[in-house]
Amino acid sequence: MYILLMGPPGAGKGTQAAKLVEEFKIPHISTGDMFRQAVKEGTPLGKQAKEFMDAGKLVPDSVTIGIVKERLAKADCKKGFILDGFPRTLEQAEALGKTLLALGINLTRVVNINVPHGDLVSRVTGRRICKSCGRAFHVEFNPSTKGENCDACGGQLYQRADDSEATVVNRLSVYDAQTQPLIAYYEQQGLYTEIDGRQPIDKVYEGVVKSLKVERA
Ligand code: ADP
Ligand code: AMP
Repeated sequence: MYILLMGPPGAGKGTQAAKLVEEFKIPHISTGDMFRQAVKEGTPLGKQAKEFMDAGKLVPDSVTIGIVKERLAKADCKKGFILDGFPRTLEQAEALGKTLLALGINLTRVVNINVPHGDLVSRVTGRRICKSCGRAFHVEFNPSTKGENCDACGGQLYQRADDSEATVVNRLSVYDAQTQPLIAYYEQQGLYTEIDGRQPIDKVYEGVVKSLKVERA
């Protein structure tokens, strides 16, 4: 199953991806996670990406497309993947199309988790991430039962540097200008499904799985 998860920042892509990974045992490929890891490790990629991430801007296509191409060529992607946060521009979508064609892979579905902008600022500013396993919590909407530690692994929770109110506003306008047009792109390809992301997490997940038209255990 080759799933592309779309949606504005804070829509719940990472939250749904974690559930899909658990059920379908396919890798979660998040360009945001890849960039954060590179920043943490202080690699040349991280140094390049940091200034764009801090400003809530997109990392240039030339950089982003390269890391995704490399990742998709790895053996664990043969049986499926969940792409999260890529593509975000038309150029990225076209590059993805070419890469998948070369790999002989057809996307199963493009699932857009739709949440109105008015709900996203509080989603993003209240987000807390586990330092160890990367799971996302929310101080109000999806709190950890272990307070400042992760429910799943006990790791420490932290707030992402770019999850401030000012940066989120930039990220949302970047989404409108550069990523929103991809909806029409994938609608034309007959791959597009939209899910109401204002529903509770489990209801959103039901919608996502239904859109994939798979049998469940
Ligand atoms: P994205 O990966 O799309 O940026 P996340 O999955 O990190 O979004 O979710 C953003 C925040 O919203 C997190 O704090 C998460 O716990 C919370 N969240 C995710 N899905 C829902 C939902 N359906 N209802 C309420 N809060 C949610
Ligand atoms: P995310 O974790 O998806 O919210 O992404 C965090 C940040 O990483 C974004 O605000 C961008 O700066 C950068 N980023 C992630 N994915 C991409 C992408 N596909 N293209 C360009 N920049 C990206």
